[in-house]
Amino acid sequence: MRLILLGAPGAGKGTVAKKLTALDGSVQISTGDILRAAVRDGTALGKQADAFMKAGDLVPDALIMGIMGERLLEQDCANGFLLDGFPRTIPQAEELGNLLTKLNIKLDFVVNLDVPRDVILDRLTTRRTCSNPACQAIYNIKSMPSKVDGVCDKCGSPTIQRDDETEEAISKRLDTYEEKTAPLANYYEKIGLLLNVNATSSEAVVKAISDKLA
Ligand code: ADP
Ligand code: ZN
Repeated sequence: MRLILLGAPGAGKGTVAKKLTALDGSVQISTGDILRAAVRDGTALGKQADAFMKAGDLVPDALIMGIMGERLLEQDCANGFLLDGFPRTIPQAEELGNLLTKLNIKLDFVVNLDVPRDVILDRLTTRRTCSNPACQAIYNIKSMPSKVDGVCDKCGSPTIQRDDETEEAISKRLDTYEEKTAPLANYYEKIGLLLNVNATSSEAVVKAISDKLA
């Protein structure tokens, strides 16, 4: 499958993407994960992205397009891909459209995960992520706690709150989302590619997507 997953931070894009990859071997491509890895490794890209990310701002379009232009050429994309966290702005969507046309790749559709703001806020402040870069398992202290508080079930590393998951950064990320990314739903609706999903459970979202693909 070849899908774009749209939705506010905390809408569940990552969780849904992971479940979908298990269905047919499509790869999840998360620009957030790529950027966090670059910051951790101290690469040139990471150095440029770090301050934007900590503040809850978007990283400039040119940097993101550079990443994605290369990523979509990698072999593993041949089996399909789930774009998680990209595109985030109208210019990114337009450039992605050009890129896909050039590569002769057709999207199946664009999924918009429509989740109320209070649900999102609650999810983000209670989210914990495994600190082991090779694992990055996600937990929620209310709805999906690790067996031992603060310790990853999968690898035993400490679970942490991301730098950009303080109340202040979260509220900034949600505002940025409303302003820059929410208009993409309308953009894809107009070109007939949008599937809007209101479900709050990831299983129900995966089902809606599978039904539409069938
Ligand atoms: P979430 O969806 O939980 O906000 P992500 O992991 O997708 O988080 O992204 C984390 C941060 O990385 C964003 O707040 C932003 O600074 C940056 N980022 C990720 N993807 C993009 C993108 N497509 N365009 C611009 N910035 C991005
Ligand atoms: Zn772990």
